Amino acid sequence: SDSMRLDKFLSNMGVGTRSEVKKYIGWGRITVNGKVVRQPEHKVNPHADQVAYKREVIPYEKNIYLMMNKPQGVISATADDKEQTVLDLVKEIRKKDLFPVGRLDKDTEGLLVLTNDGPLGHALLSPRHHVPKGYRARIQGQPTQETVEKFKAGVVLEDGYKTLPAELTVLASGPVSEIHVVVVEGKYHQIKRMFEAVGMQVLHLQRVSMGGLRLDPNLPPGSYRPLTPEEVIQLQ
Ligand code: URA
Repeated sequence: SDSMRLDKFLSNMGVGTRSEVKKYIGWGRITVNGKVVRQPEHKVNPHADQVAYKREVIPYEKNIYLMMNKPQGVISATADDKEQTVLDLVKEIRKKDLFPVGRLDKDTEGLLVLTNDGPLGHALLSPRHHVPKGYRARIQGQPTQETVEKFKAGVVLEDGYKTLPAELTVLASGPVSEIHVVVVEGKYHQIKRMFEAVGMQVLHLQRVSMGGLRLDPNLPPGSYRPLTPEEVIQLQ
């Protein structure tokens, strides 16, 4: 059938849990085609009716995809007792089921995708898929051609694990250097540990790409925007 209860529509769209959206309806925050509706059982046709929360129309789309430029100082989790999380930065109406695709350290910034698309999230995180992730970093130390070769061969970390081949490009070389590196895994603290294994320290780390998706240079740290349909395809 094309019609469903208003409270079901709202919770399916991620506006809140069923009991939360019932409260919003009772408080008069929900309109259907411009008129306040206070009955949770009110039937809506998601294809034809315009449902809005505090006057903001809720598009009838199953999935949301956001590109965030994660700032330093927030953690890549949905909720935490003490720390500010990336989800705390999201002001979307439909944030109930959003999760970050993968983790960046608290002090790492850059590209983080937030979605409610579970299958896509799992595919991107699956170790078998080897989705390339690109990072820019400032390094204490001077990587040489030998370092580049070591990364290409795979670096043995302090716990004995040998990483898959990684592509290291030196952008600026000196006592403090700028590099770009692409890895196809997501081991805990991977980039920091790879540089530690070759005697260098990561001073600043920023993720710039994931699959075919690039961090939008116009997105300041702490902000986000929806992915374009083309970008959603580039992710897959
Ligand atoms: N590698 C790291 O060391 N930290 C990150 O946040 C991501 C990759």
